Amino acid sequence: MMKQYEGFTWEQLIERKKALELKYEGYKEKNFNLDMSRGKPCVEQLNLSNELFKEALSMNFISEDGVDCRNYGGVDGLLEMKKIFAQILDVSVEEIILGDSSSLSMMYGTIEKAFNHGLLNSVPWNKLEKVKFLCPSPGYDRHFAICELFGIEMITVPLNDDGPDMDMVEKLVSEDESIKGIWCTPIYSNPTGITYSDEVVKRFANMKTRAKDFKIFWDVAYIVHHLYSSEEKVLNILSECKKAGNPDRVFIFASTAKISFPGAGVAAMACSVENARHLKKLISVQTIGPNKINHLLHARFFKDVNGVKEHMKKHAEILRPKFEMVIDIFEKNLGSLNIAQWTKPKGGYFISLDVPKGCAKEVVAKAQEAGVKLTAAGATFPYGKDPDDKNIRIAPTFPPIDELKLAMEILCTCIELVVINKILNNRRNCVTISAHSPIFVTPALMSEEVK
Ligand code: PLP
Repeated sequence: MMKQYEGFTWEQLIERKKALELKYEGYKEKNFNLDMSRGKPCVEQLNLSNELFKEALSMNFISEDGVDCRNYGGVDGLLEMKKIFAQILDVSVEEIILGDSSSLSMMYGTIEKAFNHGLLNSVPWNKLEKVKFLCPSPGYDRHFAICELFGIEMITVPLNDDGPDMDMVEKLVSEDESIKGIWCTPIYSNPTGITYSDEVVKRFANMKTRAKDFKIFWDVAYIVHHLYSSEEKVLNILSECKKAGNPDRVFIFASTAKISFPGAGVAAMACSVENARHLKKLISVQTIGPNKINHLLHARFFKDVNGVKEHMKKHAEILRPKFEMVIDIFEKNLGSLNIAQWTKPKGGYFISLDVPKGCAKEVVAKAQEAGVKLTAAGATFPYGKDPDDKNIRIAPTFPPIDELKLAMEILCTCIELVVINKILNNRRNCVTISAHSPIFVTPALMSEEVK
């Protein structure tokens, strides 16, 4: 195959388009049907934690510290499980609040409390004319959905390889009092897989904010989700905030959703003791306490942070080949064409794929037509609108590897087809100006809009 489309003549492009269309029609005839729109663990991963339920068969529901987990009590959860999260997050047990299964629900709950009742030393945000959040993007669509629901105005901040554009973050938060928070997935971020540098974390802890009640929503969903032994680490934001004299600035969120079971794991948040005290008062009106039986089963199954780490190695064994295969297929099919860029994450749940500007929606639609359902194009940006229409989130964890392989081959064909059609349309428009001159594809498709 020729290198890049740059230099293809009109005839060569038409020929290539015909070949791709034939391939695409062949895929459609397979009646393939795969939903990879969300980052879900696969069956083999879920099976890793089945033994957790064995702990229930002992019929002993009394915790280490004598709590009968079957009964009411303990608004912030079971000590045994708090200890494990304290180790994972490198905070003290007093700084942990456990919830039920979903960390997203704890994030939502914190925003809801900020609006309706007020966070520590803060006027309820529903009393304010405007509340804005910074949204490093591409980011996690459900963070953005919470903002939309509460009418929080979202400001997109570019996400670089070492974290959000901190010059922009610092400038915005120092000038605008209505900017009350920021969403961060600082380790193996969703979807780009990047981890924030120490410098970025320190700048977050130290920056001057116009809003006194500015909060960082620090979602470390993938803190132990390494694919390789060269584990990435993110600096402890809570201790950095304390050092900087801003101990109440951050709420940290995590869960075992992708360690044990999504929807049936244990969620946790960490914050300053003062913040925790304030939140627990509010939470205690909402609930008498979370599911301590589940906390107990998890604590007994994992035992401590080392138990969690060993368990995550088994996840990595299952996931690494999937990630590597996706990257390999991209490399082979798109590598020389200069029509796409993708991340090569060392952990987490996603690969972020950029196609030429103005092509993502069409690629996703075309893939869906051939049976591959991807995350909606635009979902990784506030309001579901990718200003460049170029980012596609790939979630390689759930499908069996042979299905994933076919899905990615279909996707590559869709990308080529969409791009080639755009180029042909582009050239067709040029033809009226210069019918016989050779028309070249722009040399840097990735940086140009393919109109
Ligand atoms: N945070 C991030 C960054 C995620 O990617 C996800 C799930 O995909 C969640 C939170 C959801 O976590 P939970 O199941 O604990 O609500």
